[in-house]
Amino acid sequence: MLYPKKFGLNSLFPQASDFRVVSKDKSSGKGVLALRSFSAGELVAVISGEIVTDIRQHTLQISANKHLLDLYFTGYLLHSCSPNISVDMQLMTVTALKDIAANSFLYMDYSETEEVLYKQFPCGCGSENCRGWITGSLEVPEGILLGSDLGNLGLA
Ligand SMILES: [Zn+2]
Repeated sequence: MLYPKKFGLNSLFPQASDFRVVSKDKSSGKGVLALRSFSAGELVAVISGEIVTDIRQHTLQISANKHLLDLYFTGYLLHSCSPNISVDMQLMTVTALKDIAANSFLYMDYSETEEVLYKQFPCGCGSENCRGWITGSLEVPEGILLGSDLGNLGLA
């Protein structure tokens, strides 16, 4: 079990035999490595953590003012614009979107769960549909004019 006992006991929680949080590289920091393979559609893990009311670097959003702080597993999931997992913050599950080979990093799309990111960042995921700059689902990329700004400037 990757989780401490205070998170409760559930055999579907991420197992230490299946995952390891490791340093990927300097720019990405830590990531979650799957030590075993998963098939597309397979349940990867049931997740847990502490509920906090503010956005922190490693939290995932549950609802408007509820965020999950899990520094053992989900907090270190890396971002890709072509993710290999989906995170459902209502069901508290992680599901494989593609076949995942053993010893692969798990990648979610941060905009799937986050309305506002702790910090926007440039993406180097290398996928064909890479958005280049990662924001929460309700955010406008920093430095881009809002629609209302365009109106004010007579450009809309
Ligand atoms: Zn990307």
